[in-house]
Amino acid sequence: MRTESIEIVLVNTTHPGNIGGVARAMKNMGLSRLCLVAPKQFPDPQAVWRAASAIDLLEQARVVSTLDEAVADSQFIVGTSARDRRIPWPLLDPRGCAARIGEHTDAGERVSILFGREDRGLTNDELKRCNLHLHIPSAPEYSSLNLAMAVQIVCYEVRMLAVADSLPAEADAQWDTPFATAANMERFYAHLEETLTDIEFLDPAAPRQLMPRLRRLYSRVRLDEMELNILRGILTATQQWVARAGSRAQPAKTDDGET
Ligand code: SAH
Repeated sequence: MRTESIEIVLVNTTHPGNIGGVARAMKNMGLSRLCLVAPKQFPDPQAVWRAASAIDLLEQARVVSTLDEAVADSQFIVGTSARDRRIPWPLLDPRGCAARIGEHTDAGERVSILFGREDRGLTNDELKRCNLHLHIPSAPEYSSLNLAMAVQIVCYEVRMLAVADSLPAEADAQWDTPFATAANMERFYAHLEETLTDIEFLDPAAPRQLMPRLRRLYSRVRLDEMELNILRGILTATQQWVARAGSRAQPAKTDDGET
């Protein structure tokens, strides 16, 4: 996810406070490019007030008079909508949409995400210009979120992907010991079965599901080589102890065979 390739486009926003709220939502989530298409009232002290520490985003915002200008350089356009429109269109929720946006930014493309007017949203014509529609699955009885809150949710999903990208591919990558190989796990299971038989916990004549269940237990944990060696050591010690106990229990032989 290349967040710097994403521009949030607000179309004909009425309330300057919402513009400030959007700037803050964006900056909190690591996005910086804001475009305002013919805002009703901007610049405005209410926008500054709601932006809090995101005034820089307001100052850098691109203010244009038409949607054409806003998306002229864009290669993938997402349109957000609070309700179903008549024309069926590829539609995703914010999470699915963030994944698609990530694919496009990773391919070096510029992406615009359009947000509509507080009272009427985006027009059908505007939505028809989009490659993909995004709907936040809100309650149908009241589906329309406040503009800045809708932006917050979309930017949060973008953020989650960006953060996931910056982590090592697998959390396991940072583990201090290599994970046990399949061959070593098989040796361990054979040793375990043998030991459980030695201590008479497992009856080879009626093993039931003991070994499959133990396999499932250990495979859930995913042992590393060190842990595996410790367990093998415990099994060996158990077997030695059983052998010693067994020899102690053996009747001591005397010359005439008497005990
Ligand atoms: N009354 C308008 C809603 C406008 S809300 C309508 O019914 O279309 C202002 C903007 O916030 C919307 O244009 C959209 O960009 C965004 N928004 C609000 N709720 C949303 C939702 N549930 N899903 C996606 N975007 C939403």
